[in-house]
Amino acid sequence: MADNENTPPPLKPCVNCGKPAVARYKPFCSARCADIDLGRWLKGSYVIPGEPVEETETGLPPRERDDEG
Ligand SMILES: [Zn+2]
Repeated sequence: MADNENTPPPLKPCVNCGKPAVARYKPFCSARCADIDLGRWLKGSYVIPGEPVEETETGLPPRERDDEG
């Protein structure tokens, strides 16, 4: 049972484009996809679940409530 040298274990599809990933660039299919994904991370396009995103470029004032009463 050592004839699996020619057939590498199946990798998950590229997380960027869905193509079969390559062991060398996993979980991506190529360096390009890896680069694209990294770029997204750097740009902050990724939405982190559970992490409230506060936009500070909306021009809206911070939470200021009048103390009436
Ligand atoms: Zn890809």
